[in-house]
Amino acid sequence: MEKKTIICTVCPIGCNITVSGNENEVLSLEGNKCKRGEAYATQEFLSPERILTTTVKINNYRLPVIPVRSNKAIPKELIKESMEIIKEIEIEETVEIGQVIIPNILDTGADIIITGY
Ligand code: SF4
Repeated sequence: MEKKTIICTVCPIGCNITVSGNENEVLSLEGNKCKRGEAYATQEFLSPERILTTTVKINNYRLPVIPVRSNKAIPKELIKESMEIIKEIEIEETVEIGQVIIPNILDTGADIIITGY
């Protein structure tokens, strides 16, 4: 059995939630002040996800790179591989904020979009 302390980031209180369980299920959870913390800590324990934010190379522009992010959280274990894919991309100057540069990265259902230009 694995035991982890997870800081809930759903609200500013930042409860320390202690979660015990295995890779398939949470067996005990304590320290949360509300149900939202239970859902957050369960997700973090079983399958942590993050919004990916990084930059992408751009040609013919005043800056060498511009910011991009995933439009939804993706599994934490796929962040590094996703970054490698984004590193290989070069886009042209004719882009817009919100434009998808990589749809459904690594079959996560998340698109990589331009966030600044
Ligand atoms: S468990 Fe509830 S009260 Fe505690 S940080 Fe999370 S959302 Fe806020």
